[in-house]
Amino acid sequence: MLTQIEKKYFEMITPKIEMGSKSDETYTRCCPICREGKSFPRKKRFYMYNKSGMKFTLVHCFNCGYHKSFNNFLKEYYPSECQMMKSEVKGEKLLSLSKLKKSSDLTSDLNSNINLNDLDFSKNLKEDSFNKPKKLFEIPKEFQKLPVSAVLYLQKRAIPEKYYKDWYYCNSKVTLFDKELYLKDYIIIPFYYKNLLYGFQALKYIEKKFYIYLPAENYKIWNLYDIDTNKTIYVAESIYDAISSGFDKIQIISSLGVSLPEEISKKLNVVYCLDNQIIDETSYKESLKLLDEGKKVFIWPKKSEKFKDFNDLAKAGVKPEKIRRLIENNIYSGFEGKIKLKLNKG
Ligand SMILES: [Zn+2]
Repeated sequence: MLTQIEKKYFEMITPKIEMGSKSDETYTRCCPICREGKSFPRKKRFYMYNKSGMKFTLVHCFNCGYHKSFNNFLKEYYPSECQMMKSEVKGEKLLSLSKLKKSSDLTSDLNSNINLNDLDFSKNLKEDSFNKPKKLFEIPKEFQKLPVSAVLYLQKRAIPEKYYKDWYYCNSKVTLFDKELYLKDYIIIPFYYKNLLYGFQALKYIEKKFYIYLPAENYKIWNLYDIDTNKTIYVAESIYDAISSGFDKIQIISSLGVSLPEEISKKLNVVYCLDNQIIDETSYKESLKLLDEGKKVFIWPKKSEKFKDFNDLAKAGVKPEKIRRLIENNIYSGFEGKIKLKLNKG
């Protein structure tokens, strides 16, 4: 059952045309996050609901898949309303407690047991782990389907279709947030947050040139917002390496180099996967440093010296599952890792 306060705040943040149906268990509106694409404001697929047995009121969009507690949704998109609602909720609970206190069967020390934090239901649900990107944008109309030449190139790099099916191609000038980009003959690898872009890597495959477009101080990390943060996360040096690693997309990110911002690395159980330390001096030094910092590192085994990275293995026809097993069987940390690294290097 939705509370009166929740209904009030839901209505408060909703312009009239965007409000859909109402019941004691469900309210609907146009999704404030994805704006429902072309169907705005006809479709109202953003639900706030609380059915019997549910601890919290949730919101869910059946278009973009946004899913959170109502409280955390407010916190994210309507922070001042969220504050207001919280104090109202607390006020109401205190009021009902003080009413209780007047009744006869309460001990005198009840008051000292009231913990306001217990009333803060936000901490009971998992927060979005990382800062939301500061600027989001839709796919520009200049981004088109990949042409055959680009597909052939990706196939040669052993990139499976399931990855590049949501990549684009650009062969013209694009204006984004007042900035003109000349993207002639580029493959576009999108960085998604929900269904929107917060940046992309543009890759000129003929000249092996690439660059990254991020309109704000967003994380320069591919696949960051799709991972399952409860699982071990693997970090690869490039997007191609990440894809070639054999790990599911939800378990691997590429940070274009492996240095992660502290606020991210602290929250995740990370295994760092660098290029082959046996043949790459920078990677060797970087791995030693990571081990010194107490991090977990994948160490390339001695017999692998022909290959410089995971994509190299994939291009040579090594199956994804095999690469994945290779990684899982060669994860080290601390002193043991440093010894292994030095021994393999010879
Ligand atoms: Zn939506």
